[in-house]
Amino acid sequence: MNKVTVKDLDLQNKKVLVRCDFNVPLDEDGNITDDNRIKSSLPTINYLLDNGAAVILMSHLGRPKGRPSKEFSLKPVAERLSLLLDKKVIFQDCDKVVDSEVKNAAAKLNSGDVMLLQNTRFREEETKNSGNFAKDLASLGHIFVNDAFGTAHRAHSSNVGICEHLPSALGFLVEKEIKVMGSALKDPTRPLTAILGGAKVSDKIAVIENLLNIADNVLIGGGMMYTFLKAKGYNIGNSLLEEDKISLAKELIDKAASKDVNLLLPLDSVVAKEFKNDTEFFTRSSDKIPQGYMGLDIGKETIEIFSNLVKKSKTIIWNGPLGVFEMDNFAKGTNSIAEAIASNEDAISIIGGGDSAAAVEKAGLADKITHISTGGGASLEFLEGKILPGIEAVSNKE
Ligand code: AMP
Repeated sequence: MNKVTVKDLDLQNKKVLVRCDFNVPLDEDGNITDDNRIKSSLPTINYLLDNGAAVILMSHLGRPKGRPSKEFSLKPVAERLSLLLDKKVIFQDCDKVVDSEVKNAAAKLNSGDVMLLQNTRFREEETKNSGNFAKDLASLGHIFVNDAFGTAHRAHSSNVGICEHLPSALGFLVEKEIKVMGSALKDPTRPLTAILGGAKVSDKIAVIENLLNIADNVLIGGGMMYTFLKAKGYNIGNSLLEEDKISLAKELIDKAASKDVNLLLPLDSVVAKEFKNDTEFFTRSSDKIPQGYMGLDIGKETIEIFSNLVKKSKTIIWNGPLGVFEMDNFAKGTNSIAEAIASNEDAISIIGGGDSAAAVEKAGLADKITHISTGGGASLEFLEGKILPGIEAVSNKE
């Protein structure tokens, strides 16, 4: 990688602005229900502090739509971070994120101090990467570090715009994300098996296309499998279907064949009368889904075939649940594949963020996975082979 990283920096007595991903889930009372994202930022923050820097942290939280809003304040994050770092975190509760008071406070920071700015999305310019916001942020420090992988696929003021005004570097978290996923795509230990699920084919087309150039096996599940099954001429009953994507699914099946990639569609499906947990359901061969029923999970035979392939793989990439895993009766496919991946401890296993990461964490298997990405959308775009603007903008090594 030719990007500057925090290890390349001289940090003594520098004020370092760090873009983190503190977009944590909150309950109705504003309590943080999962602080994984805050914990993931600690290695970079601690490294900067240990090497003589003062740290100014910034992040977005939720979608306040360019206006200040109490509901989306980063105050709870400041409190949790202070506990995790065992250190005072100076929280700048400023509606404009940066004003003259914040500038004065930043100027007074000493080596070892930690400051957190208010939600960057309180400013309209943030998501538009426009106006003076990036310049305002940059005026607070000497160096910019991007450690927010979750927003790396977006060109915003606090990750891309700011790079025009300051020397920049990648934090440990972003560096790890692109190292693990980058080498799996560029130079994978084979066989490489990709498992793709989720609701819609349209969201996953670009990933499937890219992985067909790289993977040995591509296993398809989730709601999107039915568009593929339809493309093969099967009767899919009331299962999820994207009519306008049938011909594309056909093309992807043909592309896999021409590239000698083993594209596997489920042999059997768990079908249900209605889209709810408490309804009549049974398993049917995928080409015989009865009229009036919908496929909500991969069946037993498919679980076995997919699991065996996963267990024989040396690199595994998983993005998207294989069934409606939020409902217990249709979670077996997703949970079984999570278990198969976790049991293959010799393989490099990579899980895109979002639902598949949630499934692995819920099953208590997270520590058996090589890498769980902290960015759902960003990891998807990375797996599509796209260059992420938040990474592209960071300074290159001389
Ligand atoms: P995505 O956000 O595209 O990764 O899709 C995740 C969603 O796909 C989850 O909420 C699942 O419940 C849903 N899903 C998975 N399998 C099916 C299915 N067979 N039918 C309908 N929805 C599904």
